[in-house]
Order: sequence, then structure tokens, then C-alpha cells
Amino acid sequence: MNTAPAAGERATAELVATGLAKIGLVLRHEAWAERERTGLTPTQSQILALLRARGPASLAAIAGELAVSLPTASDSIASLAAKGLVDKRPGRPLVVAPTTAGLRLAQRTARWPDFLLEAIDELTPEDQSAFLRGLTAMIASLQRRGRIPVARMCASCRFFRPNVHPDPLRPHHCAFVDAPFGDRQLRLDCSDWQAREHEEAG
Ligand code: SF4
Repeated sequence: MNTAPAAGERATAELVATGLAKIGLVLRHEAWAERERTGLTPTQSQILALLRARGPASLAAIAGELAVSLPTASDSIASLAAKGLVDKRPGRPLVVAPTTAGLRLAQRTARWPDFLLEAIDELTPEDQSAFLRGLTAMIASLQRRGRIPVARMCASCRFFRPNVHPDPLRPHHCAFVDAPFGDRQLRLDCSDWQAREHEEAG
């Protein structure tokens, strides 16, 4: 059976990719504007945000989570330590923890830019749901191909039961909290996430 995408589907895929690239450009500009405001590089900001969300972490865990090399993570952590924003706790492995000043700065920079939230707010709730559903599927696909690190999202969680309820507003089920939920509540970074067994083994 021929599973190659038709020409029309390919053209739509390219339009979506062009749209994502434009949004990526806006986010990159914003990341560099933030560098002017905070003195942090995008990688340093991401490390602080990660430590704020998950607590102290090893160098390898930080590098893996942000999909950067160990030397890049190590250099960024050294810069953050020199600024008094993280502490390096010696041991095997060495653990990096945010200081109070680091947590305060991470909290200040954690908010998404207003212009981005306003643009998303202009979408209808249905379009927001469809967008989130599409993004979730894309991230899951990129994860399966090893192009981005595994994110703690519903699509790859052992507790996720998609489309098991008749209610179109809340068709999915989270077996962790044992409750139904809808596309608008699909999580992309959930602290209760656990890998599926075959993914743990792989
Ligand atoms: S535990 Fe979190 S990631 Fe897993 S299904 Fe429930 S809400 Fe989604």
C-alpha cells in the first residue's frame, strides 16, 4: 500500500512548518531580548527554569533535559554559579541547586511574553484545543524519532488513557488522579508523569 503523503498534504505540512518557523523566530528574538534584561543566555535561563520546576539536578540530567552537550551545560552552570544563582553541591554525581536569588530570577522570567499569550487568547477555545492536540502529537513524534528529549507529557505517560469517555469535552482519562479531562488540559510538563514500561525499557 502506498503511504506516501499526497501533494496537497505535503503542501499543508510545509505551510505548517513555515508557520512554526515564524513563531520560532519570534521566540528567539524574545530570548535574546531577555538576555539584555537579565544578563542570562537562553541556555542559562532554561537551566534556572528547569531547577525551579524540578529542584536540584545532576549535570547529566540537566544536559539531557535541555538536549545540550555536557560541556555546554557545564559552562552555563559555571556562569550561573559565578553570578550566585546556583550552588554546585560536590559529590558523585555533582548536584546543581538554585540559590534564593536564582529562584527569584527564574520566577521573574518564567512567564511567557504577554504578546504571545495575547495572540493565543485570540484563538477560539476550539482552536486552542486543536492547536494543543496537534503540538502534543508533533512533540510525541519528534520524541519517538529521538529529535528532542522526552517531555513529561500526557501523550507519553503510562497513566494516559486517550478517548475512553463519551463526553466530547472530557474524552481522556488520567489514571494517576483517576479523572476525565479534555484536550485543553493535555499536559506538556507534568510532575506526576511516568514513562510507559516499553519506553523505560528502551
Ligand atoms: S499523570 Fe500527568 S502526564 Fe500523566 S496522564 Fe495524568 S496529567 Fe497526563
